[in-house]
Amino acid sequence: METGTAVTHLECSRTGERLEAGKIQNLSAAGWPLLVRYDLQKLARQWDRDSIADGPPTMWRYAPVLPVRYRDNIVTLHEGFTPLYRLQRLGEQLECDDLWLKDEGVNPTATFKARGVSCAISMCRELGIRKVAIPTAGNAGGALAAYAAAAGIEAYVFMPRDVPAANFIESKTFGANVTLVDGLISDCAKRVAEGKTTEGWFDLSTLKEPYRIEGKKTMGLEAAEQFGWNLPDAIFYPTGGGVGLIGMWKAFEELEQLGWIGSKRPKMIAVQAEGCPPIVRAFEQNAEFSEFFQNAETIASGLRVPKALGDFLVLRAVRESGGTAISVSDTEIMESSERLAASEGLFVAPEGGACIAALKKLRHSGFLRKNERILIYNTGSGYKYIDVWSNYYGVAPARMKE
Ligand SMILES: *Cc1c(COP(=O)(O)O)cnc(C)c1O
Repeated sequence: METGTAVTHLECSRTGERLEAGKIQNLSAAGWPLLVRYDLQKLARQWDRDSIADGPPTMWRYAPVLPVRYRDNIVTLHEGFTPLYRLQRLGEQLECDDLWLKDEGVNPTATFKARGVSCAISMCRELGIRKVAIPTAGNAGGALAAYAAAAGIEAYVFMPRDVPAANFIESKTFGANVTLVDGLISDCAKRVAEGKTTEGWFDLSTLKEPYRIEGKKTMGLEAAEQFGWNLPDAIFYPTGGGVGLIGMWKAFEELEQLGWIGSKRPKMIAVQAEGCPPIVRAFEQNAEFSEFFQNAETIASGLRVPKALGDFLVLRAVRESGGTAISVSDTEIMESSERLAASEGLFVAPEGGACIAALKKLRHSGFLRKNERILIYNTGSGYKYIDVWSNYYGVAPARMKE
């Protein structure tokens, strides 16, 4: 059975070059990320936003604006359609009257990486790809391992040796071929690039294939739906490779073209760690691209991305939205995570905690007003970072061996 996808083609994010959909593609001829395009005018005549509620309680309720053609190819572990919480008590403490959190920690493998990978692995099935490889700061590897297992596809995962133990354990347990690399995600990427041609792997690196963005954009679609098709005034997003932010920005554009929302956009706020803030630096210097950040280090491992291929797309969205980019320290991250947990009963990933720390600063500076509707993305569960918390509280950390 067909999904009813309105996909038409792929488009280079810089040159506008058109590529055929339904074929294996990585980057454009000029080496830039590809974006999936849909016939939204036609879709607008056939699809009604009020019918969304009849769909499955997963991100696949948005199948017409996702790239998969046949239902049988969808590889799902019930990702997405995550809860939206009103943060009443924390809101009072931070003087925010209308503060919300979307909790991505309840996804399969406990982060929002499940969304991107569910979409990408479904496309692998549709295109007949049998072997995939990924360089990862940790969570994407775990998600890939799980979805590859569910799809019966071989997975090769390259992660830094010092990733949270949970990422190594989950990837191993899901049956992926795991390599621990001395270095960062950028060093892992080199290993994937080397093996790609000799081993016949499909490269699932962040933004080096077009479909992880599509999965992650559903975070934006869901927020629009859950707020009754009125977008919030500001969105805080913990930014590593920036896929989620790029995806949500794309989602809002698509929703406007469908006629489901107007032209108002949230201020997009990219949050990074002080130990690795390449996007924040580029934003402050008014640069179009970021520069490789040397000696990147932070406990928020998802934010340890020294150079993102899609940096210019993140920076463009942040600027067009009237948002900003801001960094916070690891200490602020842990204190904010703890405060959120103790005020709301939600155990967030450090990346989510980083957003709370950034919110505190932007309320203080007056960048955001008390009555604005603010949405925080908590991208993962705190339970994946037990070794970070072990360290914080001085209890015995987990050990791992290859
Ligand atoms: C990967 C990751 C991020 C960063 O996501 P991008 O969309 O690549 O910027 C943030 N938080 C967590 C928990 C992650 O795993």
